[in-house]
Amino acid sequence: MERSLSIVKPDGVKKNLIGEVIGRFEKAGLRVVALKMARLTKKQAEGFYAVHKEKPFFLSLTEFMSSGPVVLMIVEGEGAIGKVRELMGATNPVDAEPGTIRKDFADSIESNIVHGSDGPETAAFETGYFFNSLETHS
Ligand code: UDP
Ligand code: MG
Repeated sequence: MERSLSIVKPDGVKKNLIGEVIGRFEKAGLRVVALKMARLTKKQAEGFYAVHKEKPFFLSLTEFMSSGPVVLMIVEGEGAIGKVRELMGATNPVDAEPGTIRKDFADSIESNIVHGSDGPETAAFETGYFFNSLETHS
């Protein structure tokens, strides 16, 4: 059993895609074990994306991520990290495979609808960043 932290980003919430994203996870056999809506502060977005703090897109990314409400969730299942990444598609929607969330709905490399953890270590950090054990229901 593996866990991934996923986010429906502000553009996904604005486009009314919360159910669409969760539905795709559920249809792939993943279970939502923690869920909440939040409006991240700039500081919270910076902490979440700390691994990218030297990147040229960090300022714009953290402004975008704090620009409106997001949906935060932990999804659980066999190979959950890889499954979520596969359902999301490539970071840049131009490069994403047909039928992926980003290919179907994303406007740009920044406004790309959804986040998913990229490995076991980041998943552990990211799930713990937003949820404690009492908020997680396996
Ligand atoms: N991003 C961006 N410009 C880039 C690369 C990434 O704005 O050139 C944004 C985009 O929203 C992406 C996030 O930063 O989802 C995190 O980047 P990462 O490389 O971790 O992509 P992901 O893991 O989300 O596919
Ligand atoms: Mg990433």
